[in-house]
Amino acid sequence: MTAPDLQTTSMEHAQHARDPATVDDWRWQHAHAATNLDQVEELFPGRFDLSGSNKSLNRVGIAQAISLYGMRVTPYYLSLARKAREDDPVWALAVPSPHETRRLPEELDDPIGDEADGLHPHPALTRRYIDRVLLYPTPICSVHCRHCFRKRLVGRAAYAVTEHELHRAIDWIAEQPELHEVILTGGDPLTLSDERLMALMQRLDAIPHIWSLRLHTRMPVVNPFRITDELVEQLATLKTPRVVVTHVNHAVEVTPQLNRAVQRLRSAGIDCLNQSVLLKGLNDSADVHRELLWSLLRAGVRPYALHHADLVPGTSHLRTSVATGQALMRALRGTIPGHALPRYLLDVPGGHGKVPLERSWVTAKPGAGLQIETLDGATQRYPGQAETSPGFGT
Ligand code: SF4
Repeated sequence: MTAPDLQTTSMEHAQHARDPATVDDWRWQHAHAATNLDQVEELFPGRFDLSGSNKSLNRVGIAQAISLYGMRVTPYYLSLARKAREDDPVWALAVPSPHETRRLPEELDDPIGDEADGLHPHPALTRRYIDRVLLYPTPICSVHCRHCFRKRLVGRAAYAVTEHELHRAIDWIAEQPELHEVILTGGDPLTLSDERLMALMQRLDAIPHIWSLRLHTRMPVVNPFRITDELVEQLATLKTPRVVVTHVNHAVEVTPQLNRAVQRLRSAGIDCLNQSVLLKGLNDSADVHRELLWSLLRAGVRPYALHHADLVPGTSHLRTSVATGQALMRALRGTIPGHALPRYLLDVPGGHGKVPLERSWVTAKPGAGLQIETLDGATQRYPGQAETSPGFGT
């Protein structure tokens, strides 16, 4: 699948509605994000059937979901949607579903324990691992993704931190010599201005024990105009290796605009990785996922993690089973290059960190040695190993 042929037409709609000189400016996109269905109609008149006669569109239910969790989607990202239906991956991830009003008992406001006891040394930090720390410079995002595990904080002023607090957080990082990587996350750190972002990055760059600066951002996907030549030139001046981890869930999101953004980042020596989320009916089939992984490789982005969808309130319609994820990984192995295969991971609720979910291909049976499952489903004995090596099992 290539970028949708309707994309150009839709962007032209947006251009007619607004100043054509600014539609490819990331600030314009951010400022003109739609926050309800009326604004969607205004941006793309007649593009989507949002009328009361569309029986498959529950406007009342959508309005209820918006009142609970809000909505925000850039004109660019919305232009990638082909129809106003929940089986459209862009629509489903950008526009609230009436299903979001249903919260299950196991769903958690803080599903991965960012704020769990002992992990939160400062309002702008989470430290789950000895060598890495998350830094949250802003709760702002250009799009409010419906499956976001930080739904509790995205777009909420209560989670904004002041410059003073951010600098105190960096002072704390500077005092922890066993920390070697800082992950700027959010919210989306690329919604900060160049000046604010670079002020933070330069301070982190000057800390001798920080060896990697990682930016987690969905801007290349939802507002790719953010990756300007000016930003990339400034990022290139940092001496610490930099990694951008973006968040593409479907091949339809890999557009010429995303390709250009990635090329700019790579031209400055910035490694580009992708993490995606396993989403029911949207990317949980082997064919759809294979297309996503190839699209990423062709764009120069290395697939890195496939997250099992977290227990985010109101997202049970987007979650699928671990068994489905394991079957997907099983189907992908051997049918896509190994370096394109992400790791299938679960962020254990409560702040216990990420664990791989892929099932083992190896079993140890007394008297039979190691039994290896092959790609064609047969079993082969692997000789020369202890019969009950610890760590193997079904
Ligand atoms: S851009 Fe990232 S942090 Fe922001 S809403 Fe989407 S998934 Fe959440």
